[in-house]
Amino acid sequence: MKYEAVIGLEVHAQLLTGSKLFCGCSTKFGSEPNTQVCPVCLGMPGVLPVLNRKAVEFAVKMALAVGCRINPRSVFARKNYFYPDLPKGYQISQYSEPLAEHGHLDIDVDNTTKKIGITRVHMEEDAGKLLHGEGPEDANYSFVDLNRTGVPLIEIVSEPDMRTSDEAQAYLKALRDILVYLEICSGNMEEGSFRCDANVSIRPIGAEKLGTKAELKNMNSFKFVKEAIDYEIQRQIDVVDGGGKVVQETRLFDSARGVTASMRSKEEAHDYRYFPEPDLLPLIVEDRLVDKLRNEMPELPRAKRERFAGEYGIPEYDAGVLTASRALADYYEATVKATGEPKVSSNWVMGEVLRLLKEGSGDVKDCPVSPQSLAGLIKAVKDGVVSGKTAKEVFEEMYRTSQPAEEIIKAKGLVQISNEDELARIIDDIIKANPDNLERYRAGKTQLLGFFVGEAMKATKGKANPQVINKLLKEKLG
Ligand code: ADP
Ligand code: MG
Ligand code: ZN
Repeated sequence: MKYEAVIGLEVHAQLLTGSKLFCGCSTKFGSEPNTQVCPVCLGMPGVLPVLNRKAVEFAVKMALAVGCRINPRSVFARKNYFYPDLPKGYQISQYSEPLAEHGHLDIDVDNTTKKIGITRVHMEEDAGKLLHGEGPEDANYSFVDLNRTGVPLIEIVSEPDMRTSDEAQAYLKALRDILVYLEICSGNMEEGSFRCDANVSIRPIGAEKLGTKAELKNMNSFKFVKEAIDYEIQRQIDVVDGGGKVVQETRLFDSARGVTASMRSKEEAHDYRYFPEPDLLPLIVEDRLVDKLRNEMPELPRAKRERFAGEYGIPEYDAGVLTASRALADYYEATVKATGEPKVSSNWVMGEVLRLLKEGSGDVKDCPVSPQSLAGLIKAVKDGVVSGKTAKEVFEEMYRTSQPAEEIIKAKGLVQISNEDELARIIDDIIKANPDNLERYRAGKTQLLGFFVGEAMKATKGKANPQVINKLLKEKLG
């Protein structure tokens, strides 16, 4: 029997608001445990939640970015369960009436575009964090840090439209890129600001009916998401081929062993005793607000990528790399504006700029060479002032010192020698010093041209204009 996998993803994204969803506590990451808490997020009796307006705006922006319909009225509900990181004993979430529904996201896998349905985008609060075995004495401690309790999240639920781990990965990356472009989420998977649960089932190819799914948790990188899904698909195939049945359950991915293992049988919605949160009014999102937010939307990654390829005539690949972040795309566009050379600028930004940035923070905002300054160097190459090879050295120096290209070229005496008379004299000397190779060249061993070019470069410390050298050598050797 041949099977196909069916995958649906539930993504939680932490919103970059300064304060929590229902209280004024800070959301700053990495503070001393339990220093960013108050009676509201600690769930003390009698306190009242107050909804964070910024969080609503961020959630609406994301919902719009993935083509959702914004429900003018949505309702917060209590999802009841006991866990030590949940002091209230319930999580405030949205359930039967979410903020937004019926969206989609286009992904590109293997040169084809596929539309993945998005069921809903809703708002909820995060729980705290448990730290196991990090105690001062031994591993028998568990600690509770409630700083994260009440931090705003959006949950983005997909339709079961993906068929491979590659599609799931592409979907996740596209979602994260949008969140980061919107500047509403850091997208940091390691810190847990962007988390994914993957629902996976298999069915015989051609079957309509969905198989029983397992829900995978605990994958804190794109690579682990892919590994976990691939492992799980094969595990389910083995179960079914072995005559068994897949059971509905939650499984944890163990990245050290590359396997998923059962955590608990899946709880049903009725286990949570959902009911409308009595302390919050329904959330009314007016058209006026939606229109305002729609107008504020930046150009999104896919649109930018397509525009770069079209407007600048650069390869799709370049457009993808250059639009990886808004800041990098802005840097590139400013360089093109200053040089009028889209492809040459792309080569420089994708090449030297990204190479040196990766040795540091990787963030183009930290680049000591401005686009205007880079343009100065690109112009120096175009005008034949320096060779392409020397230009790379100049760039490194610009990066280290923030000096303009012209100054470095002048100070280091790197100006390229293009003067034919001067180069002819140098070549004559080289030919005179190598009579044997001259003879062999003339006897037909024309590969020796490379030897002579090398000698000329050595004699000029790499400053000779290679085009002129090649031309002169061919004339003289022949
Ligand atoms: P639950 O109530 O168990 O959370 P939902 O219907 O809310 O299930 O779906 C949760 C996620 O699981 C969604 O992303 C959905 O697309 C996906 N999903 C639902 N059924 C399946 C299935 N049979 N196989 C794979 N994914 C599924
Ligand atoms: Mg669900
Ligand atoms: Zn608080």
